[in-house]
Order: sequence, then structure tokens, then C-alpha cells
Amino acid sequence: MIKREVRLRFAPSPTGYLHVGGLRTALFNYLFAKQNNGKIILRIEDTDQKRLVKDSIDKIIASLKWIGIDFDEGPHTKNQNKGPYAQSERLDLYRENVVSLIEKGYAYTCLYPDERILQISQDESLKKSAAEYDKKFKDNRPEDSISNMKKKNSVVRLAMPANENILVKDLIRGNLKFDSSLLDDPIIIKSDGYPTYHFANVVDDHHMKISHVIRGEEWLPSLPKHIHLYKCFNWEIPEFAHLPLLLNHDRTKLSKRQGDVAVEDYIKKGYFRESLVNFIALLGWHESNNREFYTMNDLIDAFSLKRVQSSGAIFDIKKLNWINQHYLRQKSSNEIIQLSKNHIPSDWSVNEKMVDLIKDKTQTIEELKEDLKIFFRTPENLKKKLEQNFPSSTISNIQASMIKNLEKYSHIDKEIFNQIMKKVAEESDCKGKSLWQPVRLMLTGQARGPELLGFMQAIGIQECINRLKDVK
Ligand code: GLU
Repeated sequence: MIKREVRLRFAPSPTGYLHVGGLRTALFNYLFAKQNNGKIILRIEDTDQKRLVKDSIDKIIASLKWIGIDFDEGPHTKNQNKGPYAQSERLDLYRENVVSLIEKGYAYTCLYPDERILQISQDESLKKSAAEYDKKFKDNRPEDSISNMKKKNSVVRLAMPANENILVKDLIRGNLKFDSSLLDDPIIIKSDGYPTYHFANVVDDHHMKISHVIRGEEWLPSLPKHIHLYKCFNWEIPEFAHLPLLLNHDRTKLSKRQGDVAVEDYIKKGYFRESLVNFIALLGWHESNNREFYTMNDLIDAFSLKRVQSSGAIFDIKKLNWINQHYLRQKSSNEIIQLSKNHIPSDWSVNEKMVDLIKDKTQTIEELKEDLKIFFRTPENLKKKLEQNFPSSTISNIQASMIKNLEKYSHIDKEIFNQIMKKVAEESDCKGKSLWQPVRLMLTGQARGPELLGFMQAIGIQECINRLKDVK
């Protein structure tokens, strides 16, 4: 047998944004393609015209590009060999293929009387009995079905075999068996003339020469219909792998209500691309040694469908934060400043010293922003806080002495700092905690925080003086 060229596809529907589950599907397809010297194709499944959301294709492409997933073919690539890559531009192909299916007796057209359409639109439960009702068109002659396609309110259904076990091997789940008698005849062409997901998906996978279909578990119930379609056409069946569901902590299906599900939300929050890739790759896949950190190239080497689990994978934001911290610690403070530019107020001039002081305890750019506040916000209501803990004479003595001594210098280093603190101790007659605590509070507004000398160097001597003068 001739070995097929390895060709994979990611086939999102443009109904909004790239979901984290979609990103995992895209990533696993990409990894599999890369490690097998194959190609990856982006196909836009936009046949459900009612659910289309403007700009979502651009958003999805932008998120994937940001992550580092490049496509060999797609609506945005130079290579348009097997295009067009949006299903709404392939309607002629579906029509041609559906006609050939009807001619062979594998599909039939049903006519919807207007009153039934109305009934179904008002009562979902009628859908099932509608499929039963439509079977009366099953025995129509193919030429009648074909001419009926032109009529208003007509749909085309695929005739499923009556009593057959549909067998298929899934690369993650092993051998699967579906009982065809439990399946309705699915609609493959809708009354608006557009194909349904089942039909367009199979026709395109065939014409785009897709060798492996890697997609979410939610598509598993569609698999027997797809396999049956391949058999009707006598087309080579690709290999299938259905990835485990993504779950919330309480093992319910991952939902917006329990956290962000759009990739762009994580990008906006400043997560690093390497953290997201690393985290997403571990949603349902791991090596036997339970390794935790991977670059994209590591993943291309190490990933294997054999080690993808079939049970649901918990989406644990704490783990993402922990992975993000790992990558944050590897970056220089300057790099962190560059990467956080779009996430912090533009009037904060963050310097490396500030980042040096806080980065070890920080997991995310959002936390970094929170921790940077002490360098840019003049502490408020300090007087009250100070007076709760120290006599007001102590406070004013320390304040005056600090200002006086700091004003003698234009910069501050360890030696100068020690000299100043010694002087202030003498002049205010305070030492230990009763000296350091008020000084720290006056400068940072907090009882705890980064090391004091470093903090003073980070904001500069003039700002220290301003803050001390400003204690209110
Ligand atoms: N358009 C489907 C989706 O949005 C594609 C499913 C498949 O990969 O077959 O997930």
C-alpha cells in the first residue's frame, strides 16, 4: 500500500474567538504534522450562516499566529492548492458530491410542508419524529430527489444502514463499534442550500487529502455518520483521534462561568506564549516520566498520540500560573519590562531594579502589575497607620531626620544607606523595629515588602524625599 502523505487540518467554525479547547486541537494537529514531516491546513467551517460572527476568522488566525502555529495551507497562505479554504466558497463541490450520492441511492431529498417547519421551530422535541416522517421520501427515485432539491423547504438526508455495526479504530480510544439502528438519517444539505457540518467536513477532508483527523471528543457521536459517508463514496478513510474533553475543577465541561475560555483573554492578561503552549500541551497528554516543561520544539520531538488519555483533562489555572512563573524567572528584568509594556499604565516608567526586587514572587504579568503599584502610587492615609503603632513625636523625628540626611546625597548605595540609617537612629533615638517599621511605612505604605535599600534605589532619592515630605 502506498503510504499517504501526512496532512492534518484544524477546522474551526468562526463563531467568535479561539477557545482554549480549539487551541489544544490545533496544537496537537500541528505537533503531529511537524513530527511526521506533514502539512497542516486551516479550514474555515462557516456553513452555519446563522452563527457566524464578524471578524472571528481574523481573530482566530491572529491567536494561532501569536502562539506560533503556522499553517502550510489556509485562507491566509500563499499556497492555495486545495483551496478555497472556507466552506462557504465550496458550495459547488458539495452540490456535485451530493448529487452523486443521491444517484447511487445513498441520500434522498425530503420536502418540508410549511406547517411542519413552523411546528418544529416551536417545539424541539418534534425533530426526532420529523426524521421518522422524512423516511417516507427514502424510496423516491433518485431523479425525483434531485429535482426536489430545487424546491423550497427541501433538505437532503443521508440514508443510514438499518442494522449494521459500524466499526472504526480511534488512535486514542482503540476499536469502536456503533449500532447504526440507533442513528437517524442525518440532514446533509439544509433548506438554505448549505451543507451541514457532517457532509462538508467529510467532503473537504477527502478533497483536501487529509490523512489524520485529530479533534475533540464532542465529535465522537458524529463519527459513524462520517464513516458511513466515506463508505458510500468509496473514499479512503483517514485515521481518527478524538481528544479528551476539557473539564472544570468540579469535572463539569469547561465553561465560561468558571474562568476564561478564549485564548485572547490569556494573551490580553500577559501570559507568555511559551507558558500557554506548555500548559495546553499537558491537557490530556504527558510522558511516562511526567516531565513538566517543554518548548514547542521539545513538544514536536516528544508528543505522541499514544500517550493521550481518553478521560477528561482538568483545566487548572493554578498550573498555568506555575508554568508561567517558571518562564518568568528565566527572563531578564529588561525582557519582562518589554513584555509587560502593554499591560501596565503608560505613565509608569518601570526600571530593572523594580522588577529585580519583585520578580521572584510573581507568577503572572497581572501580579507583576499589582506588585509594581508600590513604586508608583504615593501611599495614602499613612498618618493614621503610623499613629496606631508609634508615638507621633517618634514619627515626626524620624521623618525630619530622614529628609535632612537624604537631602545630602544625590544617589544612594549600601554605604550611604547605612550611614543615613545610623544618623537617623541617633537623631530620633529609635532603633531596630521602631526605626525600620516607620521608615518602611513612610516610603512604601506597607508594613512588608521588598528590601528597603533596593526599593529606595528603584524609586530614586528624590522620590524618597517627596514621599517622606508627603506623609499625610
Ligand atoms: N468545525 C468543527 C469545530 O468547530 C470541526 C470539527 C472537526 O474537526 O471535525 O470544531
